[in-house]
Amino acid sequence: MRKALLIIWGALALSCQPQESVDVLCTTSIVADAAKHLLPEEIKVESLMHSNIDPHSYKPVESDVAKLSNARIILHNGLHLEGKMVEILEKLGTQKPVHAMSSALQSHDLIEVGPNTDDPHIWFDLQLWDRCVGELAMFLIDQFPEHRQAIEWNTMDYFSELVQAHDEMIRASNKVPDSLRAMVTAHDAFSYFGRAYGIEVHGLQGISTAAEFGINDMSTSAQFILDHHLTTIFAETSVNPKSIQALQEAVAQKGGQVTIGTPLYSDALGPQGTPEATLLGAFQHNTNAILKSFE
Ligand SMILES: [Zn+2]
Repeated sequence: MRKALLIIWGALALSCQPQESVDVLCTTSIVADAAKHLLPEEIKVESLMHSNIDPHSYKPVESDVAKLSNARIILHNGLHLEGKMVEILEKLGTQKPVHAMSSALQSHDLIEVGPNTDDPHIWFDLQLWDRCVGELAMFLIDQFPEHRQAIEWNTMDYFSELVQAHDEMIRASNKVPDSLRAMVTAHDAFSYFGRAYGIEVHGLQGISTAAEFGINDMSTSAQFILDHHLTTIFAETSVNPKSIQALQEAVAQKGGQVTIGTPLYSDALGPQGTPEATLLGAFQHNTNAILKSFE
């Protein structure tokens, strides 16, 4: 561990080579999407992790360390979503403004999954995310006071979009009988989504893809699918699909049959230029797929 840190900080010290600096550097595409909605276009916002990248296992490479070192401010999700970046983010926080989206939430908002461990996947409960966006707006106004008015207007616009999508999903979910509202995904990224929209969710892996899953997890998940008469299970774009394929096999071995639905966007948004490159585009994609699986 100490050696890895020395390498990182060696790279940080050597990262003086000229490089185009970024105003706002975000860890995940989800956080970057929020910042892009709020800030005027002339402020450069970038994400370290792009589509299909799993933030739980992401380790910053040398060029990332240089980017982090050169950025004016850094935004991250927090709650240890960026599990391999915790120390570097803490260290950067002593040198420049670093803001965690989760800092807007109180412990009673969070889903506790273990001693001192809360589920970090806060963005697919749009009402919760709305509060994170509000807190982000305050932080960005502090950092860019010359853009206060634009940030305030953009925030109000984005609030209405989030509220509309949230209300539409509640209405759509309420039309489905309780007994049909259950889903299985590759890892536990949808617990806040399930709590907000009345869906029982089950992840094959825990809240982090860094944890291994065992035969018991596979058997429990297969039984959940059979008990809830699910016809579809979901892979995720940022998680290796092999685990969900193995689960399909496990269901077959118990005499059931389940298809693998279109991969959901969980911890990363879609590629640039696609509707799913925004949180609300990804949310729409997911809810369409999930609601279809209830039919
Ligand atoms: Zn995750």
